Amino acid sequence: MPEAGYRHHWIDGSPIELPVGKAVCVGRNYAEHARELGNAVPDEPVLFMKPASAIVGLDEPLHLPEGQGAVHHEVEMAVLMGERLRRADAEQARYAIHGYGLALDLTLRELQNRLKEQGQPWERAKAFDGALPLSGFVEARGISIKQNLRVALEVNGELRQHGDTGQMLMPTFALLSHISHCFTLEPGDLVLTGTPAGVGPLASGDRLRMHLGNVLSASATIA
Ligand code: ZN
Repeated sequence: MPEAGYRHHWIDGSPIELPVGKAVCVGRNYAEHARELGNAVPDEPVLFMKPASAIVGLDEPLHLPEGQGAVHHEVEMAVLMGERLRRADAEQARYAIHGYGLALDLTLRELQNRLKEQGQPWERAKAFDGALPLSGFVEARGISIKQNLRVALEVNGELRQHGDTGQMLMPTFALLSHISHCFTLEPGDLVLTGTPAGVGPLASGDRLRMHLGNVLSASATIA
């Protein structure tokens, strides 16, 4: 069950009649971000998942885990699946997209670094309750993502992260196709498409503002 009755919804607040499923996320999909964390630029997408229980709405104050070190912001374009996608090509992937939104891939960075050093999975650093705050969605139909969309995050009025979807090492439709050869994507599942450079720690009381081109903006506060 998702946290506190979270439901997928459009930006006007009206509900989307899809279940809330898993989120498949891609690490290091922007070269500059891979470099800032001292990671090699991968030849193949680095995939991991967050469960439905990690999802919360952006409209409620966000509660960060305590006593586990820095929680980093990673602003990302989120894709909401409307159709099942299994071993699909990029063109099929395109028509399976229901909407686009903004997400924060919250990360316990120090814990993640320890887990990486020990060769362990990242889940504890990435999949905790509240680790995936999500905005409302805009309909995929109305949007051409062929044109590059700016993905940006301001914290307390200061620009921290910005990039655009044209910088993705694997672009959206190809990424969905690739994922669908690893995991079946179900209606109501999400794909997080990676974060541009500029990640950093969040603090209590921070005010966040995120943008996806001129398509969508969202705000959040840290409790
Ligand atoms: Zn991420």
